[in-house]
Parts: sequence; structure tokens; C-alpha cells
Amino acid sequence: MARTYSGIRESRPYTYNDLGGKSLRLADDFNKKCLKNADRTFSQGLQCRQINSISCVLSLEDSVFIIHSPQGCSGCVTMGADGYRVGQAHRGVTLIKSPRVIVTNLDRDDVIMGGEKKLADAIKLARERYNPKMIFIFTSCASGIIGDDVDAITAEQQKLTDSILVPIHCDGFRSKICASGFDAAFIAIQKYLLPQEPQPKVKGLVNLFAPTSISYKDQLEVERMLGLLDAQVNYIPFYSSLEKIRRITSAEVSTSICKVFADEFMKELDETYGIPFAHTVMPIGVRNTDKWLLGIADLLGKRKLAEEYIEKEHRRILPQLEGIKKRLAGKKVFICGGTGRSFAAAALIDDFEMELVGLETPTYDFDAQMDIEYLNGIHQDYVVDIANMQPFEQVNLVNRLKPDLFIGVPSWSARLGVPTTHVLDPKRATMGYDGILYLGNKIADQVENPGFNRKLAPHSRLPYKESWYRQDAFKFIKED
Ligand code: SF4
Repeated sequence: MARTYSGIRESRPYTYNDLGGKSLRLADDFNKKCLKNADRTFSQGLQCRQINSISCVLSLEDSVFIIHSPQGCSGCVTMGADGYRVGQAHRGVTLIKSPRVIVTNLDRDDVIMGGEKKLADAIKLARERYNPKMIFIFTSCASGIIGDDVDAITAEQQKLTDSILVPIHCDGFRSKICASGFDAAFIAIQKYLLPQEPQPKVKGLVNLFAPTSISYKDQLEVERMLGLLDAQVNYIPFYSSLEKIRRITSAEVSTSICKVFADEFMKELDETYGIPFAHTVMPIGVRNTDKWLLGIADLLGKRKLAEEYIEKEHRRILPQLEGIKKRLAGKKVFICGGTGRSFAAAALIDDFEMELVGLETPTYDFDAQMDIEYLNGIHQDYVVDIANMQPFEQVNLVNRLKPDLFIGVPSWSARLGVPTTHVLDPKRATMGYDGILYLGNKIADQVENPGFNRKLAPHSRLPYKESWYRQDAFKFIKED
């Protein structure tokens, strides 16, 4: 990379992972640069960055994926593989494939003696068995701690094969921010897969970066919206190919569907290849869809076209929202999700006149501040929990705030009897103007049908003492 970005998000200034408080106070402190770094003295699991690196490239055509780790690190791959298989079905693929994954299975002996031979053997197996175009190699905590020289092994093995070997340095322990895994994947994509020579620009070609969580319906909708601006879309890297990746540097502009996906890579493309980018919001809800489309339209010089389309869509959608508002207005909501989607959901619920009482999201930084400031203008002072996972804090807050609805992974709040749903739906349409209607009706259905969670609560115990619910949810966050 031309810049010196390490792929570790903590290295970006004013980035916080361990924080809790009321939204107005946090936004004010952030502006005054008064927020202090902190850590949790008790912590309940973090999402690892390795799975984000893997999921970023798992659906690339003609690839093999080697996870250089103990067996356990590959556990989450089943989730990505499921998404990949469903995604193929939605795209009309009849001969559905599973991703080709090899785990080196580092064990106790390897931790003492080194795991480099196992990695070399795995690469040999990958090329002999599959002879793919690309072989991705993911590092892990174990390979990082024992100091396996993955780059040297890869360079040595590269001499023996035409497959392109792509090591991705995504050892989990290096960052508490799982989005760092996306950055690690893009750093490797740039280093090993992008053409080194400047490519001729293609007028109207737009790089549209999309994470795995985007459904096929959403892909079609965002591509359709960009098509209205006469853009030709290069949708990458999800369900993509080496050829499409090599077209990245020919694009006129770039944008992303998610706020924390490819943002650093787009900066790199801007600085190295002169490809400007729109980095706005996730197109969920009226405000965000408008903003997302205008962001890219401005770069393409098509603002007027976008405004005409937005006006037409508002005339079509806004009257239909009235029925949903009648079902949802005034209901209190707690949202937990990744940075892009949680902020998008918090803006979306304003379309239905719902009230935000709590927001849990993994990172607070300059980008988050922009969203928090916007949300502070439309919602009352709400609780913000900056946490990657940490269900013990979540149950404490949900129990205290008593929302009418929880949006996010339901495992814990459902057992408190709170109606739950989510806006992260890799299988259905959630984006653009029609997505608003789908999500609105889905949310209203959940609020009006709380029976399952209500009946679940008395029969399902969360693993916390009653006394925990009376304590400060943020008591384990200690400033440095
Ligand atoms: S790489 Fe590290 S943090 Fe990630 S799953 Fe493996 S052991 Fe856990």
C-alpha cells in the first residue's frame, strides 16, 4: 500500500472499543477530545477479525482457502459456507458448491516445533487437488504467536504453482475490532491481485464493495439504483472473480454498501490510482437510501438525475409508511449490530416514529460520531454501549431500559421476554425504498406477536445473578 495503514483499526486516531454512557454526553466528549481509552476488566468474548477476512473472499470463484490455525478457529466458516450456498441458490446456480477450505490443524507439537511444514503441505495439497486460480492463506493467533513465517513459505511455494498465493495476516489477537479483518483482506488483495501497471479508465465503471451479509435481492436493488445513474457496476469481492478484482483499478469511482467495509481500501484506491469514492451510510431507511445514492451521484456528476428519482420514490413510498407508523409509533427500541447496520437501523426506526433507547455497536470513531450526531438530532438522549459482543452488558441494559423491541442477535434479549427481530437479513431485501416497507412490516409483525419470547422467558434462564441487573452495566469498563 502507498499509505502505511497497518490494517489494525485501533491505529486510527480517536478510535474507542470500550465505552458506555448517554449519547449526548459521549458526542460532546468526543468533540472536545475528552474521551479516554479504556479496557474491560471483565469481558465475554469478542468476534475475531479472522472470520471477517475469510468471509470477505469466501465466495470468490475458483479459489481455495487455507486456514493456518488450530481446528477451532475455522468454526465460524460453517456460517459463511451456509451463506455462500444460499447465495448461489438465490443467483440461480443449480450445481451448488461449498467453499473449498483446508485447515492446517495446528496442535500442541506445532506450537512448540513450528507449523511451517504443515502450511507448505496444505498449499501443495490445494494445488494438486484443485489447481485453483487463487489460494488464500489466513493466519491465526497460534501461527502469529509461534512466529511461522507465512510470507516466506508462500513465496517459496509460489515458485511451484501458477495459482496466485495470497497470504492474509488476520491473527485474531492483533485487534479487538473485527472490521480490521476486512482491512487485512483488502491489503492482501491490493498486494497480490491488483494489476501493478496503470489500467485505462472505463467511463461510468463503479466499484461497488459489498460484504457477505448483503442478500442477492439487495445486490439487485443497489445495482438497479446505480444503473439509473448510467453506472456500470463492478460488484466485488462477494460472488466475484479474479477478473472482476483486476478491473478495480479501471473504475471511475468507488463506493461501498457498508460503512466499515472497504473504507480504508477505497482511500488507498483514491490515493494510489486516483479513484475517488463515496463513503456515506448503508442504504437502509429513507434518509440513508437518499444519502447513499446522492453520495455516489455527486461523484458521477448525476445529482439531478438522483434527486428526480428520490422525489419519485418518496411520492411512492412515504404514503405507504403511514400504515406502518400507526402500528409502531412511540415504541421503544434497543439496537445491537455492526457499525454500519446498527446506525442504519437507528435512522430507519425514525421512519416509523419509533424511539431509540439503547444502541450497542463495536466501535466509536470519527465515522460513528457523524452518525451519533445525526441520531442525537432525532432521538432523545439514549444509552450507547460500545462493545464487541459483551452480552452481560446487553442483558443488563435491556432489562433496565425495557424496550418494546430489540433489534439484533436475539439470543439473550429473547430470553428476557422482549420481542426481537433484526435488519441483517442476508436472504431478503432490506435496502433501497422497497426494503423500508419490508423491514417496517417485519418489525411491526414482531412487536404485535410477542408470544414466543414471552413464553420462552419463564422457561429459559440467563447465566447471570439477579444482583447483576441492579449494578451499573459499565462497571467493568476502566479508563487507562
Ligand atoms: S484467530 Fe485467535 S481469536 Fe480468532 S478464532 Fe483463532 S484463536 Fe480465536
